[in-house]
Amino acid sequence: MNLDEILKDAEREFAATGSLPILDQVKARYLGKSGAITAQMKSLGALPVEERKAAGARINQVKDQVEALLRERRDAIQAAELERQLAAESLDVTLPGRGDAVASLHPVTRTLARIEALFSSIGFEVADGPEIETDFYNFTALNIPENHPARAMHDTFYLEGGNLLRTHTSPVQVRYMQNVMKLAGQSQEFHGPTGGGALPPIRIIAPGRVYRCDSDVTHTPMFHQVEGLWVDESISFADLKGILADFMARFFERDNLPVRFRPSFFPFTEPSAEMDIGCVICEGAGCRVCSHTGWLEVLGCGMVHPNVFGHVGIDAERYQGFAFGLGVERLAMLRYGVDDLRLFFENDVRFLKQFA
Ligand SMILES: [Zn+2]
Repeated sequence: MNLDEILKDAEREFAATGSLPILDQVKARYLGKSGAITAQMKSLGALPVEERKAAGARINQVKDQVEALLRERRDAIQAAELERQLAAESLDVTLPGRGDAVASLHPVTRTLARIEALFSSIGFEVADGPEIETDFYNFTALNIPENHPARAMHDTFYLEGGNLLRTHTSPVQVRYMQNVMKLAGQSQEFHGPTGGGALPPIRIIAPGRVYRCDSDVTHTPMFHQVEGLWVDESISFADLKGILADFMARFFERDNLPVRFRPSFFPFTEPSAEMDIGCVICEGAGCRVCSHTGWLEVLGCGMVHPNVFGHVGIDAERYQGFAFGLGVERLAMLRYGVDDLRLFFENDVRFLKQFA
């Protein structure tokens, strides 16, 4: 086969290919190990010495031409493929945008912000603490020693090294009181728990995520709590009632919201109480939400147990305090009329956008 024919064949065959893999196969027939041009190169050795130079140059010239044809065809195939792809994925930049959905705060976040704003307005500070806690802060310091039956109510997730996911935000209160005692110990005016200057007042709320091994219609393994603590020299149960009744009235925007306190038990307070408010759904007439009692249980509270003060070194003879804890989802459900706790955590946009 002479070189002109090889060139012509290559030109024709390249032109007939429509895809890159086939083009590569065709290329091999000319430039591959046993391709036509390679064979020509190999045959040079059989020529008389004086003819080799000219023949070699001619072969190289054809080889260059074939390679040029190949490049040309490859570019053409790539351009055609791009063209096809663009046509298939056509983008009309003149269409109106679809991103008109504005994000909004989650109803639980809104409720948390509302609770924080109301307590901040009467001088409570917001305190924060770790979600991974030690047994001491979550239980022992709160007067729940090992084997205390109250631990069964706080079944949580245990981690390596004796740590656990906190079951309430009460550990924050312990940590805060410890810090106050530490700072007070370093100050000139304070001379220990029994004598000298007074402790600075402790007035905090501790909002945050807490965990329990629970999952059903009214329980989720993670939920939000706000706990509050006020410690000073003359804090009484009357202060507790006044602060919490006022908070609930403002939270639910009811001027004459009825409240009642029922005796209860918590290891970390004594006396302890459950606080109820008049049902905000039926205004006390009785409905499904209040189990036809006209009352809604909203939080637990009480006077700080002397043993808790003992764990942080505060003199329980001189200082008193009250503490309370409420479930944020519970208040959000009542305020917004949501009847299934799980809706808050399913991330269904149809639900969430009602709060946007
Ligand atoms: Zn009701």
